[in-house]
Amino acid sequence: VKLPIQCATDVSDGILAIIQESGEMGVSNSAAVIENGHALVVDTMLLPEMAHGITETLRFRGARAVLVLNTHHHIDHIGGNVHFSSCPIIAHPVAVEIIRQMSADTTVATRLIPRFAAEIPRRLQVPESLYNRLTASESLPGGGELLTFSPAHTAADVAVWMPEQRVLLAGDLCFNGVTPLAIHGRLQDWVAALEILIALAPVVVVPGHGPLATVATLETLHSYLQAMTAVARRIAAGEITMSDSLEMFDPGDVGNWLEPGRTMMNLRQAVREAQQEVVH
Ligand SMILES: [Zn+2]
Repeated sequence: VKLPIQCATDVSDGILAIIQESGEMGVSNSAAVIENGHALVVDTMLLPEMAHGITETLRFRGARAVLVLNTHHHIDHIGGNVHFSSCPIIAHPVAVEIIRQMSADTTVATRLIPRFAAEIPRRLQVPESLYNRLTASESLPGGGELLTFSPAHTAADVAVWMPEQRVLLAGDLCFNGVTPLAIHGRLQDWVAALEILIALAPVVVVPGHGPLATVATLETLHSYLQAMTAVARRIAAGEITMSDSLEMFDPGDVGNWLEPGRTMMNLRQAVREAQQEVVH
C-alpha cells in the first residue's frame, strides 16, 4: 500500500507536529513534546508502518518515546500503539474501555477504511488509564496540561495544552480541511469544548486531521457545529423537514472541506440529540 506523505514540523521549541496528507479517513496526525531527548507522543496513527515514521522522526532529532497518549478511541489514532509496546500508553479511562472492546475484532475498521484494510493491525495495543500514571495536579512531560472532555468528538477526548508555547495538541477536537465526524460523541458538548479551547487563544493548533491550524479553525468548527445544532432543534420540533434543513444549513468554510458526505451523517446525529432533549 502507498502510505500517505508524513511531514514533520517544529511548531515551537520542543514541540513537533507530524502531519499526514491530506487528513481523510484513516489518515491522521501525531505530535510530540520533546524534553532532554525524551518524547511524549500524542496519538500513534492508524498503522504500525505510520507509527514507524513517528519514531524515525524522533530518532533523527535524538529523541525517543517515553510516554504515549491516545487522544480518543478511534483506530486511526491508536492503531500504531503496537509499535510503542516498550513504553507506557495512556488514554482517558472511558476510551480505554472502548478500545478494550474494539480489540476483540478489528475487521469493523477494515470495512470502514478499505484503503488500508490489509495493513490494519489485527491486534490493538490497549492503553491504560491516564490516571494510573498522572495525578490530577501533575503536568505532562514538557509542562503540558491535560484537558479532558467527555463526551465531545467521541465519548471521551483529551487534548494537550502547552501554556508556555501557546500550542494546542487537539486530537480530533480539531479538524482542518476535512469535515469533522460528530457521530460518536455529542455535538453540543463538542461546541462547549471548542469554547474552552478558543478561550485559551492558542497560536498553533495541531489538529487530528489536516494541516496545522489556528484559533480561527476552532471558530470555524464551532460555527459549523452550533449552526447544525440549531437546525436540528427545529427539525426535532417539527418546524422544518430534514430536506428543508439541508437548504437552510450553512456549513460556512467547512462546506469547502474534504469528506462533505459527513455533514448529512452529522445532521442525523444532531437530530437524534435534539429529539432526546424533546423527550426529557
Ligand atoms: Zn476521531
